[in-house]
Amino acid sequence: MRAFDDPAEILEMTRLVERFLAYVRIDTQSDEASTSCPSTAGQLELGRLLVSDLAALGLTDPGLDENGYVLATLPGSAPGVLGFCAHLDTAPAFSGKDVRPRLHQNYDGSPIRLENGVVIDPADSPELLQCLGDTIITADGTTLLGADDKAGIAAILGLLEVLRAHPDVRHPTLRVCFTPDEEVGRGTRRFPLERFGADVAFTVDGGFTGEMNVETFSADKAIVTFTGVAEHPGTAKGKLVNALTYMGRFLARLPAAESPECTEKRAGFFHATDAQGDAARCRASVILRDFEAAVLADRGRRIEAVARALVAEEPRLKVEVEIQQQYRNMRAELERRPEIAARLERAIAAARIEPRIEPVRGGTDGAQLTARGLPVPNVFTGGCGFHGPREWISTRALALSTCTLLNLAQLHAE
Ligand SMILES: [Zn+2]
Repeated sequence: MRAFDDPAEILEMTRLVERFLAYVRIDTQSDEASTSCPSTAGQLELGRLLVSDLAALGLTDPGLDENGYVLATLPGSAPGVLGFCAHLDTAPAFSGKDVRPRLHQNYDGSPIRLENGVVIDPADSPELLQCLGDTIITADGTTLLGADDKAGIAAILGLLEVLRAHPDVRHPTLRVCFTPDEEVGRGTRRFPLERFGADVAFTVDGGFTGEMNVETFSADKAIVTFTGVAEHPGTAKGKLVNALTYMGRFLARLPAAESPECTEKRAGFFHATDAQGDAARCRASVILRDFEAAVLADRGRRIEAVARALVAEEPRLKVEVEIQQQYRNMRAELERRPEIAARLERAIAAARIEPRIEPVRGGTDGAQLTARGLPVPNVFTGGCGFHGPREWISTRALALSTCTLLNLAQLHAE
């Protein structure tokens, strides 16, 4: 195996940065309210550009399927099929229209000042201090940058470009899939798993250099419906049972210390996301998150216990609790094939980076695909500050992502 560990060499031999800058200029913000797939036209525009870039790199059969998924193949010299995925869309949380990327050369460690008074300060984003002397790419302060996940897309294109130029580098057949609507939770809904045909795949959608994810939250959602007794308020004494009052008490009894704002790292939480209804009948949604399946199940039982306690206090009140499964931690599946995470760790180390195994406090497309039988850990892109105007990436970090993918491809040929 030839270890790729020199980002300067990658930046020189590929159009990595040029491609990244072209991709971020296309507005691909996804839209939860849209029912089409992809949810926005900009994602198709980026998809078409990628098909033409993949064709120019000489990949076989690059194409856009009927749902906006981009697929392509690079035949290999070793057996097996290895997949790489990244997502086309940017987060609905902040504008991705008219992104004007700014390059800050030879970064000196000072705060980066953008328009609208936006400052990217090493005090809040300490990874910047690991990028002294690098070229940092940011937006101009009015939009997000879109390194999440156009850095992942560019890193994969960089991988393919290097492999095309170096046919001596041994690798299995590579399948690439760029997916729409990850940020609105629909990235894998129409994922062409059969056509993709990979034995193992990686999403390139992680954060700063060295990060790898083999673990996500497990997630359930509790829908709690309160039915009271309706009465004219003028004659309600002793008769009315106000459903809203009890929903308020229910929400107040969720443990404050186990909320998203009070937890981090491996601690799970309860989080009320939505409530609607009136005095007669109302409903609250509470999402439950935990890394441990048993603790998650217990969170569901604790919700039910709070509901029962309210009914005990007011027997005329009716409370129904429905627990819906959302997604599951991919760790259990990946632990059955420990070589997958081990190879990723080795690929990062071969780029002379310290691997950082971080649990994802959320779900990933990879977790959904893992649940459907295709193991898919996640690997870093090099970006930071995702989903807002303080998003940034160093070109060296981006190239290190490509180095890691090159090492990973070779390790799958062993
Ligand atoms: Zn992402």
